[in-house]
Amino acid sequence: MIEICLNTDEFEYDVRAMVKAFYPEEFLYVQCKESKVQSQKPPGDECVKMHMNLDVKDEEIDLRLQQGEEITCEKAHTVKGDRSQRKNDLKRLLYHVFSMKTGRTLPWGTLTGIRPTKMIMKDLEDGKEPSMIMQEMKEKYLVSDEKLMEGVEIAGREREILKKLPEQDGYSLYVHIPFCPTTCLYCSFTSFSAKRWKDAMDDYVDAVIKELSVILPYDRKKKLTTVYFGGGTPTTLSSAQLRRLIQYIKEQFDLSDLLEFTVEAGRPDSITKEKLQVLKELGVTRISINPQTMKEETLHILGRNHTVNDVVNAFHLARQCGFDNINMDIILGLPMEDSKDNQMTLQEIQKLHPDNLTVHCLARKHNARLNLEKEKYKDLTFADVTEGMELSSQAAKDMGMVPYYMYRQKNIAGNQENIGYARENKFGIYNILIMEERQSILAVGAGAITKLVGKPGEFLERVENVKDVATYLERVDEMMERKKRAFESYGLI
Ligand code: SF4
Repeated sequence: MIEICLNTDEFEYDVRAMVKAFYPEEFLYVQCKESKVQSQKPPGDECVKMHMNLDVKDEEIDLRLQQGEEITCEKAHTVKGDRSQRKNDLKRLLYHVFSMKTGRTLPWGTLTGIRPTKMIMKDLEDGKEPSMIMQEMKEKYLVSDEKLMEGVEIAGREREILKKLPEQDGYSLYVHIPFCPTTCLYCSFTSFSAKRWKDAMDDYVDAVIKELSVILPYDRKKKLTTVYFGGGTPTTLSSAQLRRLIQYIKEQFDLSDLLEFTVEAGRPDSITKEKLQVLKELGVTRISINPQTMKEETLHILGRNHTVNDVVNAFHLARQCGFDNINMDIILGLPMEDSKDNQMTLQEIQKLHPDNLTVHCLARKHNARLNLEKEKYKDLTFADVTEGMELSSQAAKDMGMVPYYMYRQKNIAGNQENIGYARENKFGIYNILIMEERQSILAVGAGAITKLVGKPGEFLERVENVKDVATYLERVDEMMERKKRAFESYGLI
């Protein structure tokens, strides 16, 4: 545990993020002198690794760290009144101290946000030269040269793709299917057992169709650019349920401007020939078949309930059904894997020639089984992902792919990022739209979050649905009402 004592809660989020970036395994106990409500120290965790006292004033930051007998005191000067400047000064100070203590540097420096390319893209649109952007980000956020080059390349590519899209005149549709065959060890998404909810799936499809109907007046005013079925695992629905849902969208929405229709068929244990044929017949253009790893033992540890062979067979089946845009997801930093395992996974994937490869670094999420059942998994080991990142980049290049989107997550392995690679003209457009927040995404289903995006600087409004399936089925009318009110308040229908 690391005890943190702050004089103000103004920068609590940033302090937490920086400390976690250097000490991902440690529990943080934060107290704030200013706050009236003091949090309780967790019982039973008496091992305090480090105590940190931080005073952030208008013109000066004082930091005092105590680790056993060793005491470190540091000061930094800040500019009075400029919050952003003070925040960056504070983060650089923390970075400097923790980097000295741990002997580590972070590839993204002090940047802790999830969308590094959004910042770069804004600068590019303001007419800044890439070299100047890189210089500024290096000084301000201590980002490595390698990540800056990668970020500028991706932001430039995203910008070219976005230029061809109707941004605020268009919108995307997201349909959430929250069921999965089993729950993966690392999963923190809203996901319910497909087996347990089998009998309610028809009702779920009915509710989603009902909720979709509230979007129709909006659809009459905007161009539908992409449709994305995500989850969970959308292909846990039966072929008849998939047909009913997609048929409704085809009949009721104007698809004349549609550029992409993606369905995540993530788990091979949910894929059948019949389902793939329905998806193809009804105009789905892009699917995902996600191995995460091609190592049998790891699949077992993850509780994914399918084999490597299942992945290969599902992929070939999808090709036979005519899919010419298939994504495969992998995760680096999985338990009991190292870079040799990553290499083997990448070699197996290269044999299949997918059109997209999405490389994730494991993020240790609070509500994943991996954390909730810590004791059970305490002997699992996790290797560094740096080499795996390099191997993935090379494998993607060898398959003729380029990086086209990226995002970061909290507590991500190696403080790295997730990167999407694709062959030319096979980019997952929805992935760019959701990361860059340039177009409204109207989302339906349990746990789905709608984002209404206005012109730059106008508005960005989130409208959330309840996460629990039973509650969603009961309260779908209320979810529709929430959307309707949001549309009306921004004059969108
Ligand atoms: S397939 Fe995806 S959504 Fe389903 S349990 Fe695994 S990680 Fe979670």
